[in-house]
Amino acid sequence: MAEESLVPVTERKRNTMQTLTLEQETNPWEAQAARFDEAATRLKLDAGIWKVLRYPSREIIVHIPVSMDDGSIEVFTGYRVQHSVARGPAKGGIRYAPDVSLDEVRALASWMTWKCAVVNIPFGGAKGGVICDPKKMSQGELERMTRRYTASLIEFIGPEKDVPAPDMNTNEQTMAWIMDTYSMHMGQTVTSVVTGKPVNIGGSRGRREATGRGVSIVCDQALKYLNMTPESTTVIVQGFGNVGSNSAKLLWDKGYKVIGIGEYDGALFNPNGIDISELLEYRARHGVIHGFPGADAADKDDLLTRKCDVLIPAATENVITSKNADRIKARILCEGANGPTTTVADEILADKGVFVIPDILANAGGVTTSYFEWVQDRMGYFWTEDEVNQRLERIMIDSFDDVLQYAVKHEVNNRIAAYMLAIDRVAYTTKQRGIYA
Ligand code: GLU
Repeated sequence: MAEESLVPVTERKRNTMQTLTLEQETNPWEAQAARFDEAATRLKLDAGIWKVLRYPSREIIVHIPVSMDDGSIEVFTGYRVQHSVARGPAKGGIRYAPDVSLDEVRALASWMTWKCAVVNIPFGGAKGGVICDPKKMSQGELERMTRRYTASLIEFIGPEKDVPAPDMNTNEQTMAWIMDTYSMHMGQTVTSVVTGKPVNIGGSRGRREATGRGVSIVCDQALKYLNMTPESTTVIVQGFGNVGSNSAKLLWDKGYKVIGIGEYDGALFNPNGIDISELLEYRARHGVIHGFPGADAADKDDLLTRKCDVLIPAATENVITSKNADRIKARILCEGANGPTTTVADEILADKGVFVIPDILANAGGVTTSYFEWVQDRMGYFWTEDEVNQRLERIMIDSFDDVLQYAVKHEVNNRIAAYMLAIDRVAYTTKQRGIYA
């Protein structure tokens, strides 16, 4: 990595905030590094540990040949970045998308380190990605690509090394293929090599809904903190994939009024509330949310800036930027996605007094339940859904309180508080283990 990137990004950001191009503003690695630098500065982090934690410990690039259905051979580029293994095996999802980049995977890997530390589970952080367009690929092509990607990473993953999981455009089936491929190479079934598997092959009950459940729990905590009630709280959710749909459903079940839903094929708005159970049934029948009779069609870009109490971006990075942050009207921003808000937008939202529940806390319910899955696989004894959900609730509530305490103690916003808490924990372990030479 270039020497110049050692210059604290926060300083550069303050000097150049007005002149950043949108491309610079939306580089996820820069966004991660800026928050890291700010939190590390406030913690007065030792200069050596700063360098250790600022960069990933390992970056793997693989080129994956795949026989396509038409008889041709395609070669896909895949990444796996392991940011830290200080607190335990590296942990994090794998995403399939046409715009995956190494900088994005790097940022996502670091976010996993901080996320696991915020919720205090014994994992480091990693992320994987393959540049491909899964919507244009058959199941057979996806299976062959997944298996070959797994085989390329065989020596780097494992229950005690690095444990992948689902992320954008990967799911329980993808995890089953990874588990099977790894197991074939090992000569025995190794369920704990991945999490987010189907329940009948070592998956955990409650894992599918876990990220959305975590989002709903931290929303409840924020409401209590701000003296609000679910019945008088309006919610807009951007994204209706695993995280968005489960967040919307669980909040709606708790009595929140979900007034807007955005998806790639359009958006829906109903000031009186959208029946999320009916919407899920409609989507299961039609494959899209577009045309749902229980709400009006809306512009998906306008949805983020409509008036609501809680805004939940639950799709991808960089949806709240310098271009729209001043028009956000929500009281609470709860980040179901990873990296939905840029650093420039952070400053604008802080000036407006928006209560931010940062991604590394808000969406940590997924990896927390992944931890439960890994634990259950290793002991070969499986918990009931209630047991899983109760344990998740305890961890999410404690983590929310920990972050808020840091924010008050250090007089920083919730995002920097979450980074400070996480960096403090990882730095402590790194110092304790020492530097191997
Ligand atoms: N991909 C999810 C995340 O970003 C889950 C990761 C995991 O369970 O390891 O948090």
